[in-house]
Amino acid sequence: MLATVAAVAGVVVRGLHKGFGPITALAGVDLEVQPGTVHGLLGPNGAGKTTLLRALLGLVRLDAGRIDVEGVVAGFVEVPGAYPYLTGRQNLEFLAALDDDPGDVSEALDLVGLMDRADTKVSGWSLGMRQRLGIAAALLRRPDVLVLDEPANGLDPQAARSLRQLIAGLTADGLTVLLCSHDLAEVDALCEDITVLLAGRVAWTGTVSELRARPGRSVLTTSDDVLARQLRPRAMAATDDADGGLVVLGDTAAVDAYVLTLAQHGVAVRSLRQESLPLEEAFLELTR
Ligand code: ATP
Repeated sequence: MLATVAAVAGVVVRGLHKGFGPITALAGVDLEVQPGTVHGLLGPNGAGKTTLLRALLGLVRLDAGRIDVEGVVAGFVEVPGAYPYLTGRQNLEFLAALDDDPGDVSEALDLVGLMDRADTKVSGWSLGMRQRLGIAAALLRRPDVLVLDEPANGLDPQAARSLRQLIAGLTADGLTVLLCSHDLAEVDALCEDITVLLAGRVAWTGTVSELRARPGRSVLTTSDDVLARQLRPRAMAATDDADGGLVVLGDTAAVDAYVLTLAQHGVAVRSLRQESLPLEEAFLELTR
């Protein structure tokens, strides 16, 4: 199997700096990707994600910092390129001819599920098929680390799901994947760990479950909202709901303590809705 690697490899990035003239794309980024896992790279537009992936692929000259990877890194940024007037197989054969020790073209095509269309011209291929061809091209390099920039961009739900299954299968075979995505459902489904970039810096890094466990949002209605608002700890305050609900931010223990304080001051809690903080909420909170 092409995706089976001799030894699993991780990625360690330290103090990465990259500027483009007056623009600072990376301002001291540290990152660790555990071997054999899918690590999600998130962040708003212009946060520096693609520049970081380019750096890992050796496509940009860094101003400072170092990247340690055990093994070969391969992948694509933005959209994978292919010659439209060649067939999928011809595209891969062309790439394989440039490599000293390429993987097997048929095996790569098979692995990404493109065998049945391999000998047709890429000009007639769907976006999902081109994304798969991009992954096949990366796998031809026998990578230990696969870098994918928005691989499901523009795919229909069915194609996106099948791409997810492909990526999950590759990591099961030992590949390490760094996945840049704006699709939080995709990140949730695939990634163990996440790094959130904001303006060229790491705003947060940790596991998906840690991100989900960040202080949640609860909405209360009370018998005396004015007093309840005064009693609400400053650290728990948030913009109240337009329909009059009092919003508090905090974990369960903090919300319990607040409710008890209200009771001690004679304020009755009439309703309490504890909204779990989905990944999207956490992401918006971090990048606000
Ligand atoms: P997006 O989600 O929109 O793809 P991103 O997080 O991938 O954004 P980057 O593409 O890494 O962000 O860009 C980070 C910053 O660096 C942006 O301000 C961008 O305009 C700038 N930048 C990136 N590449 C270049 C370049 N080749 N020349 C000049 N500026 C660049």
